[in-house]
Formats: sequence, C-alpha cells, structure tokens
Amino acid sequence: MTFQLLIDGHLVDGADRLEVVNPATGKPLCSAPRADADQLEQVIAAARRAFPGWASAGYAARRGAVEALADALEARRDEFARLLTEEQGKTIKEATGEMIGAIAGLRYFAAQELTPETLRDDGGSRIIEKRQPLGVVAAIMPWNYPMLMLALKIGPALITGNTVIAKPAPTTPLTTLLFGELAAEILPPGVLQTIVDQNDLGKVLSSHPGINFVSFTGSTATGQKVLASTVDTLKRFSLELGGNDAALILDDASVEAVAPHIFHGATKNAGQICLAIKRVYAPRAMMEPLCAALTRLAAEAVVGDGLHQGTTMGPINNKAQYEKLLDLIADARANGTIIAGGGAPEGGGYFIEPTIVRDLPEESRLVQEEQFGPVLPVQAYDDLDEAIARINASDYGLGGSVWTGDVERGIAVASRIESGTVWVNKHLDLPFDVPMGGAKFSGIGRQQGLEGLKEFTQPTIINAAV
Ligand code: NAD
Repeated sequence: MTFQLLIDGHLVDGADRLEVVNPATGKPLCSAPRADADQLEQVIAAARRAFPGWASAGYAARRGAVEALADALEARRDEFARLLTEEQGKTIKEATGEMIGAIAGLRYFAAQELTPETLRDDGGSRIIEKRQPLGVVAAIMPWNYPMLMLALKIGPALITGNTVIAKPAPTTPLTTLLFGELAAEILPPGVLQTIVDQNDLGKVLSSHPGINFVSFTGSTATGQKVLASTVDTLKRFSLELGGNDAALILDDASVEAVAPHIFHGATKNAGQICLAIKRVYAPRAMMEPLCAALTRLAAEAVVGDGLHQGTTMGPINNKAQYEKLLDLIADARANGTIIAGGGAPEGGGYFIEPTIVRDLPEESRLVQEEQFGPVLPVQAYDDLDEAIARINASDYGLGGSVWTGDVERGIAVASRIESGTVWVNKHLDLPFDVPMGGAKFSGIGRQQGLEGLKEFTQPTIINAAV
C-alpha cells in the first residue's frame, strides 16, 4: 500500500519517508511519507486560505461534510481496523471498537451547534454571546488511539468552523493518512490536511504564528514543551496528558465482582490508555483473594499478534515504550513480588505478559510513574484516609475509580480524589457528551461535551443599547 499526505486538496508524497514497524513482528510494515518544514509551511498557508470560506459556510453545510466523513469511514471500517491493528498492535476486536467509537464521535460532533446566547435582554441592553471559530487548529496526537483521537479533535474543530492540520504520532501515521484520502473527496482544499513527522514538526506547529489553537494529546513531558512554545504567539491550547489512575477498593466491595473490571481497566489496549487503571489500593484483608483473582485473569490472557484469532492482548506499540516497561518490571522485581507475568514472550514483537506486582514500597517507580502498559501494582492499605492521601500524593490527576457495595459511600469517597474524572464501580466510561480532562499535571482544558466543544471557539460579546 502507498500512503500520501493531504496538502491543500492534493495527495502528495512527503519530502522524505519514514519506516512504520508492525509491533507484532518488530519488522517494517511499510514506509510513510514524511513532511519537511517547507511542506508544513504549505499546509499552514493552505489552512489559512481555507478558513474564511469554511467558517462562513454555516453549521448545516459543515454538518453535512462531517457526516459524510463518518459515512466514508463506516463504509471502509474493517479495512481501517485491520490497518490500525497492523500499525498500533491492538487486537482486531479492539481496533474495530476504536473505529466504531471514531465514527460515533464524528456523528456526535456533526450534530452539535453553538447558537448565540442572550445573556441579558432587559429593555436597557441586549447582550449576546456568539461563539466564533478560532482559525487553524493543530491536532497533535499520540499513538495509543490514533483514530479515536483524530475523530475527537477534528469533529469539534470542523463543526465549529475551524480548519485542521492533523499530525499523528510517527509510529501510527497510516490510518490518519488513509483518512486523509477520504477527506480529499469530501472537504474543500485546506479544510483538513495530514502531516507526518518524526517528532520534529510538532514544536513548529505549536510555536507557529499561523496556528491559532493546539489540541494536544500526549505525555506530560511533551505537553509542558507545547505549553512553553505557545507563549510568544499567545496561542490557545488544550492539553490532554498522562495519568496514574488509582482504583480504590473499599472494604465492602466483592472481590469476585471487582477483579475482572480491575484487570480489564488495566490491560485493555495492552494498558496503553491515558485513563487505564495504573495502580490498585485494596484493604489489607482483601489482598490475598484479590491477588489470586488477578493472577488467574492474567494467566488466562492470550498475548499475541492482534490479527490472530484468540489473541486477547496485543503487543506494546513501539520499542522505546516496550523497553521502558521491561525496565519498570526489573525495578518491580527488585523491590516487590511479581505474582503474575513479568516476562516478555519471544518472537520479535514487542510483547509483554500481563504482569501483577504486589507489596511495592509506595515510592517505587511502578507506583509513582505512568507505566502505560499491562504492568499493575497492587498496594495494601489499612486506613481509608491514608489510602486517599497516597492516591492524591501523585502529580497526576486524570482519572480514578472507587469500588464498593454502597454507591452513596462510593460517591462520597470519589469526591475526595483529586482527578478530572472519578468513576464509581466502573472505569473507562467516557460518553461523548460528558467533558473529560485532567487535574494537576494531567492536563489543561477539556475535551468532549459542551465544554470541550467550546474550547475550539472564542466568545464575542455583542452588547447593544436598546
Ligand atoms: P508523546 O508526548 O511522546 O507524543 C504525542 C505527540 O506529540 C506526537 O504526535 C509527537 O510527535 C508530538 N510531539 C513530540 N514532540 C513535540 C513537541 N516538542 N511539540 C509538539 N508536539 C510534539 O506521547 P505518546 O508517547 O505518543 O503518547 C502516550 C502519552 O499520551 C501517555 O502519557 C498518555 O497518558 C498520554 N495520553 C493522554 C490522553 C488524554 O486524553 N489525557 C489520551 C491518550 C494518551
């Protein structure tokens, strides 16, 4: 298969190429076009030219176009899902789930409209708030959910009248490029463009005077760089960053009922989810049955190529992340007890067994850092206040969950956790109409819901004497 960039309505080759690796084999899958700084300038210029027409086209025309993108994606859903598995590693079931989510996300945003709001009309003044598009949006994406992230950025950006430059992560560019081919048939030139880099053009986008808004999802370290680089141009931005979500099990929970949810929340997408469960806190009396149940579930997992039937967990997306996880496992082995997994199956792919570790010192790396993989520490606690304090001691504050037999108690405990989202008796439930985002080092701004939609706009207040 050949892939091209979408620049100003044309599918073109990159100035250079980069190799995309299939993480299930560790071998090259195919090469992708890689843009240089000149091509990026062309893209930004085209996006600026396209903006006035797209902004004034109105919601009805834009809605039709975003729906057409969703239709086109749906028509080729299975092809996209297969490519997603090949470049990202997730199982074909997970890839199909991601495609379903991406299509539904586009449809959700296609149906939204920000209408002018009358803030006051009292005979003396009529004050109206209108939401205007910001201009050119840079959508900078991570490698864990390439298509879902793309949909959740371009959906709200396009419907509100912005033009978009989509930049996938260098290890997962192919599905975004294929989506660009669909967009070339549907959208006017410059309204949506695709650019691929080798981690070198993101910083150009976030500092460029031709970009009005950076919608960034990625690691906290890179998010901090983005924040620093927006200063000179006073650029608007939203940062969806890393997390270290805790699952807090209360003493009235049923281990049997909770364990499968915890395991799934920690190992879905091979644990490569910003909002995955990344540490567990359990009452000391519950440790033995909980650890036994998690060990059983880990032993049942089938790690392998995501395209193979029966695989329940695919590989880690890239070599750097795989090596980071091996390092964290070595550290956990030295400081705690590995009760399941801990190995890296042979075969050339970046495979990690689902790994459960217990009794680590609280200050250990696996408890404190974001592992972003299927390696889960289970920590005992004796006192609930102390457990909440340990959870809140993290710089991260993306998500978290409380597990209990008493929902009201769960809600009361959840409100004491310093995170953007805290679930009770579930994890990873993210309806499109509910805003999500991070507290503390997990981000600034919100995605999804009305709040997330408004981030792609700026208010103009019209204040008339009547
Ligand atoms: P990353 O920060 O390495 O890269 C993310 C994107 O930023 C890539 O497209 C990359 O090319 C680009 N980039 C690199 N340097 C840049 C710079 N200086 N300026 C601008 N852009 C630059 O993240 P990753 O490893 O691809 O993704 C994993 C991380 O993303 C994890 O920490 C995870 O928790 C986080 N994440 C967060 C959310 C959320 O919604 N909060 C969702 C998914 C992933």
